[in-house]
Amino acid sequence: MPQQYRTRFAPSPTGFLHVGHAYAVIQIEQWATERDAKVLLRIEDIDPTRCRPQWIEPIQQDLQYFGFAWDSEVRQQSQYLDHYQQALQHLRDLDVLYPCFCTRRDIQKSLQNQSKPSQFFDAYPQTCKHLRTQEQQKRMAYEPFAWRLDCEKAMRMVQQPMIWSEQGETHTVHIQDMGDVVLARKDIGTSYHIAVVVDDALQGVTHIIRGDDLFSSTPIHVLLQHLLGLPTPIYHHHPLLCHLDGERLAKSQQSIHLRHLFEAGISSQYLRDYLDHCDGVWGFPSHTSAIDIAHQLGS
Ligand code: GLU
Repeated sequence: MPQQYRTRFAPSPTGFLHVGHAYAVIQIEQWATERDAKVLLRIEDIDPTRCRPQWIEPIQQDLQYFGFAWDSEVRQQSQYLDHYQQALQHLRDLDVLYPCFCTRRDIQKSLQNQSKPSQFFDAYPQTCKHLRTQEQQKRMAYEPFAWRLDCEKAMRMVQQPMIWSEQGETHTVHIQDMGDVVLARKDIGTSYHIAVVVDDALQGVTHIIRGDDLFSSTPIHVLLQHLLGLPTPIYHHHPLLCHLDGERLAKSQQSIHLRHLFEAGISSQYLRDYLDHCDGVWGFPSHTSAIDIAHQLGS
């Protein structure tokens, strides 16, 4: 029997879902329906500075009201921090991580003093990369630190060319697309990059359909998949829903929250029809109220 494809929707519970999320859900559903694929829901809540448990239920309610059907149990990342620690330990065993003690200010200052701009996507000036083991250990005992990926070493370690498929096109991972990214933050001991790569593999995700704001993270994810011995899914990054002038929707704008649009009388079918035909453009200026949007949609 051919393998059943799996994809996922992975919101972070930072507030109510908005029309940009609904647009992303539609992209996932269309892709999945055409292929009879399984669709999973994952709550990406490893960052307690941005995520709140009380947003999880409203997110699921709004998704249900919108008619999004997800397939099996919901994976909530904060329940699986030990899985991410195991992956980090694996990378430490490979010796491709180093502790970084820099504060944001330290980094900004060194970047200002640099004569030429970094060629890397993640412009870390590599201040802590060459610390001696003895100094690292001394400082680790009393200073907060993050773990960064030594991307040059990691790229050397994976000997075969690293590629991924994006809508039928093949992309290659280049070192200048990544930099020494943080894989375990000082405050939470893990990161989005680690959690997403581990979960996609654990949940058997074969295809990732997500917004193109995450395209630049994909080379990092593919490198991590190679280092951790995990499969590389097929990627499809779709354009984000934007205003007419191309500007991104501001999450803080209440009138684009699904909850407020539904309360203003817009049915999920109306919203679906609009998003299906809008060509990626949310044609309402940012000051338009949910009630006015409802009138203009004629619902
Ligand atoms: N949790 C991420 C977000 O809300 C999505 C991550 C992903 O799809 O890889 O933007």
